[in-house]
Amino acid sequence: VIKKILIWPHPDLKKKSAPVLPEEFGTAAFNNLILDMWETLYDVGGVGLSAIQIGVPKRVFIVDAGKSSSRKAPVRWVFINPVLSLKEETAPLNEGCLSLPGIVETVVRHTAVSVEAVDETGEAFAGDFVGLEGQCIQHEHDHLDGIAIPDRVDQEAYAKILKKLKAKS
Ligand SMILES: [Zn+2]
Repeated sequence: VIKKILIWPHPDLKKKSAPVLPEEFGTAAFNNLILDMWETLYDVGGVGLSAIQIGVPKRVFIVDAGKSSSRKAPVRWVFINPVLSLKEETAPLNEGCLSLPGIVETVVRHTAVSVEAVDETGEAFAGDFVGLEGQCIQHEHDHLDGIAIPDRVDQEAYAKILKKLKAKS
């Protein structure tokens, strides 16, 4: 089911999401959440989506960088209860967000990230990510902590975002 994506500054987007509990894996509600997230992501043609963006405050996000995948083939990643280790080096990158339609801002991100997480079957996995996947993982992980692009930019860019959103509404 395609869900409505919450638009910033919706108060839910400032919530800290809760870990998924072991007993939730395999339940219909949980499996449907993951399916709904994929349907919603592909409907809008995005690269990544966090559960909170469809109003579910759980530590789940999905990423599909398509041909930009660092695995040389598209991978549909599901990250549950992820823990990130960030490489020290950073770079300013252009970034958008499905909760901030039409807005692209420069955000400083780490150039590489290691992730330990659980997949949708409850299996633990780990991986190293760079490029679009690495950037997207940092962006989606921010959503789990109630952080979005406007919280990552300077005052001038923040004011610009507010102005653009106001002009659209
Ligand atoms: Zn976002």
